[in-house]
Amino acid sequence: MNVTPKLKMKFVAHIVALATAAALGPAALAEPAGTCPPPAGVALQILGSGGPIADDGRASSGYLVWINGKSRILIDAGGGIFLRFGEAKARFNDLEFIGLSHFHADHSADFVALLKSGNFSGRERSLRIAGPAGAGLFPGLTGYLDGMLNGGDGVYRYLQGYLDGSRGLAKLDPVEVAAERAVVYQDDPRSVMIEAAPVPHGIVPALGFRVRIGEVTIVFSSDQNGSNSSFVTFAKDATALVMHLPIPEDATGGALQLHAKPSRIAEIAEAAGADRLILSHFMPRSLKNLQANAGIVRAGYTGPVVLANDLDCLTLRP
Ligand SMILES: [Zn+2]
Repeated sequence: MNVTPKLKMKFVAHIVALATAAALGPAALAEPAGTCPPPAGVALQILGSGGPIADDGRASSGYLVWINGKSRILIDAGGGIFLRFGEAKARFNDLEFIGLSHFHADHSADFVALLKSGNFSGRERSLRIAGPAGAGLFPGLTGYLDGMLNGGDGVYRYLQGYLDGSRGLAKLDPVEVAAERAVVYQDDPRSVMIEAAPVPHGIVPALGFRVRIGEVTIVFSSDQNGSNSSFVTFAKDATALVMHLPIPEDATGGALQLHAKPSRIAEIAEAAGADRLILSHFMPRSLKNLQANAGIVRAGYTGPVVLANDLDCLTLRP
């Protein structure tokens, strides 16, 4: 689907709301929010819009996709997501897929807390989980799960049932993604398909996710420096593109190995033709002048820009 002028017109009201939000300051919603979960259709709920530092009143990275009133897909489980998951009234039993973009703590530290919560859910069916293959300092998904859940020496070995289905726990069904874009989940009627692809995040193996539900496509950039243009293809024609804005335009040094500047985020979103762009994963250095940083994005991207806050709910239509 191409972004037609007509489609862009649909967002004029949102852009007016954006201008209002800009006047209200960084904490204001950038787009009229829905209420999650809507009884039908697809909604994206921000569980965590913050970064790795515990000073912004935001949970670290986490996103929930509601499908017909059920919490079906979780992308990332950084610190604070355990609490937000409950506040959103999401149910572990309803999850069909969890994607962990990488094994920085701000994207994965609450995962085992969610598993413990799921211990009380009565869930029996397996749960697909996808994450990157390991390299250097970082384990792959299977090594990460083994380190926590292995019945011999795993830190949380009392939860080993998540590895082997014992003790009445739901067996995790892990899939690792290395160098190539891959389908990591598809449901039976083939109405939901999730793909993952590597994204450049310094030395850290990391994945972006593309979630297609019927005619709605949500793409999650994860943390990345934006240097691999194949991500534009991966994000092509997204109904909603979630990108991370932890650094300002004048960032220097190592931060540029890890993250994309606002101007690069805009280029990617514009080239992908995304219907809307959701900015998230803020840190103090990007929050400090958030409206100026968002302004740089808006200068290069012609669609509506949403500044995420924890628990915001966006209903999505194709
Ligand atoms: Zn991060």
